[in-house]
Amino acid sequence: MEIKLNFAVLKNLTELPAISGRETAIRSYLKEILSSYADSVRTDVMGNLVVFKKGTSDKNLLFCAHMDEVGLMIHYIDERGFLRFVTVGGIDPRTLLAQRVRVQTKSGALLGVIGTKPAHITTEADRTKALGVKELFIDIGFGAEEAKKRVAVGDFAVLDRPYAEFGNGLICAKALDNRAGVFVLAELVRALKNPFYSVYAVFTVQEEVGLRGAITASFGIEADLALCLDTTGAADIPGCAPQDSICSLGKGVGITALDARTITHPVLFELLKQVCDDNQILRQIRIAPRGGNDAGAVHLSKTGIPTCGLSIPTRNIHSNVEVVSMDDIKNTFHLAYLVAQNGLKDDIQEEAYEPNV
Ligand SMILES: [Zn+2]
Repeated sequence: MEIKLNFAVLKNLTELPAISGRETAIRSYLKEILSSYADSVRTDVMGNLVVFKKGTSDKNLLFCAHMDEVGLMIHYIDERGFLRFVTVGGIDPRTLLAQRVRVQTKSGALLGVIGTKPAHITTEADRTKALGVKELFIDIGFGAEEAKKRVAVGDFAVLDRPYAEFGNGLICAKALDNRAGVFVLAELVRALKNPFYSVYAVFTVQEEVGLRGAITASFGIEADLALCLDTTGAADIPGCAPQDSICSLGKGVGITALDARTITHPVLFELLKQVCDDNQILRQIRIAPRGGNDAGAVHLSKTGIPTCGLSIPTRNIHSNVEVVSMDDIKNTFHLAYLVAQNGLKDDIQEEAYEPNV
């Protein structure tokens, strides 16, 4: 396919701070870069950004990509100025130790480092115990008085790690979950010209804490079908058996058959595979019994919407060294683009469940 993706946009997206419920930075950036390509742009009560592009048919295609990332919220500033925090979204505390964070305050971002009791003074019992967030603290380099002036309880912090391309076409950054999906959707908005479907490109909020934005966003849209663009864990790594990998880097767009929240509509599932096979788009089937994404909320909206999660495989998901493949992103874009631009060959209707006689 000829359309070239502008990966500088993905770099910008990963470096912006936006935990669940605090997505303003991403929303503003998307509005700025997408408004001139859209027929309308609005923000709903929850904070979802709804970008609309009119199509040539009377059918509507809903795309979702969540803007939020997992992160930290400050809930206590102690007597020596150290910040204590809770996690927002699923984070393994083992991945937080010795990391840098950016604490987002009303007067700007502050650098912080996450520490714990050093090995020199821990006991054998300390070292064998699983590390929890209660054992961790953020040091912003100020004593209590100054820390309390600069930071407010309720401020949030994000992991701090610059975007980098490395190895054989891979990207490492924080928040690739789900800036990679947001990037694909933003590039779609820019690339589609007179698409078959009228496209609602919805950049959702609060996915990481329970698909909350997608619930209200999909309720407000009359969609004939929906595609949710998100990352998914790739356990194609040491210690994991091949049959447990969920998805693998470099093997193409992950077309969801089943996850913890959805079983993809069988007709839509077949049609999407067919588009890939007719257009040399590398694909893999995603089966993730313990994962979920916005599709879980969207497919149950109103009387039901045929929905599929299109997933970008991601190693070290929910850490500040998430890793994705540029080729997987391109394959995901290519599939989503062809569906929106050309339409699917068949209608996805109730009768589609009946066998041909
Ligand atoms: Zn995600």
